[in-house]
Amino acid sequence: MNLEVMQKILQKIEEYDRIMIFRHVRNDGDCVGASKGLKAIIKLTWPEKEVYLIDQDTAAYLEFLGPEDEPVADEVYTDALGIVVDTASEARISNKKYTLCKELIKIDHHIPLENYGDLIWVEEERSSCCEMIAVFYEQFRDKLKIDSEAATYLYTGMVTDSGRFKYSGTNGDTLRAAATLLDVGVDIDTLYARLYLEAFEYLKFKAEIYRRMKITENGVAYIYVDKAMQEEFNLSLEQASACVGTLDSIRGCISWMVFIDTGDEKGSIRVRLRSRFVTINTIAEKYHGGGHACASGATVYSQAEMEQLLQDADAHVKQYKETHEDWL
Ligand code: AMP
Repeated sequence: MNLEVMQKILQKIEEYDRIMIFRHVRNDGDCVGASKGLKAIIKLTWPEKEVYLIDQDTAAYLEFLGPEDEPVADEVYTDALGIVVDTASEARISNKKYTLCKELIKIDHHIPLENYGDLIWVEEERSSCCEMIAVFYEQFRDKLKIDSEAATYLYTGMVTDSGRFKYSGTNGDTLRAAATLLDVGVDIDTLYARLYLEAFEYLKFKAEIYRRMKITENGVAYIYVDKAMQEEFNLSLEQASACVGTLDSIRGCISWMVFIDTGDEKGSIRVRLRSRFVTINTIAEKYHGGGHACASGATVYSQAEMEQLLQDADAHVKQYKETHEDWL
């Protein structure tokens, strides 16, 4: 834990009257939870401070967490402190007005492909950025205030980014931070129901995935969700992309990925890459992407490039299997 930088972040927050919070494009539970959770903690602790979180694009499955602030004039940004959560590179910051802020802080748990900001707090081994915000609260709890709404935002990101505390980033610190939030008060029955109940039709789509999924020679499971399939099941891009977890439990497949035809004019195919034991981020980085060691995103622009990525992933997995044991 980097106590020195955490203390500097607290000082900066205390110093500024206005704070703008930023997160990443294609938002997920962690960046939404961390941004809303941090905003709530600051507002509860210093009600007189102005805190804005401006992003009009909340993912549909997270809308239950509530809307963000309306856009404001550029001048509002200029004397403010900016805090970007859960975002490895500047290109992925959703609200581009972060450049207007007087000073910028980066709080993140991704592998830092590039750094930005005047103060940087990155802890790659954290299971989520929400865990970092919860640890931040815990560290300065004699000064900071939290309530069950803020705790629920943070708990949402911890649950979603750790796969319900299943992924390998989960450790004692993760559970201690989660315990702090539960002590504050999180209605986990309602939260889990909001996050994980699935529509009958969506389960039919999953059945189709199991029917069509393929495996490369050395055990990379994959599926290409083309436009026809998206139309057949009446899926938004986001719903189609959510199917990556469907392939996560095939014995012998230590990596799995989904390719989603975005239908844009550039022919982009969104790739979501996942793995256990073997790392997969180097493959993502080769194809306009990045992320975590075992959960990354990328983009390819043709079926040929998709095949190329699969070949690279297959060779990578082959090499891993040849040099390791007990990968199941
Ligand atoms: P996704 O499959 O899109 O949820 O991505 C998995 C993880 O990789 C998330 O933490 C994303 O923030 C990150 N990620 C996705 N795409 C990129 C990218 N192009 N560059 C860097 N990180 C990415």
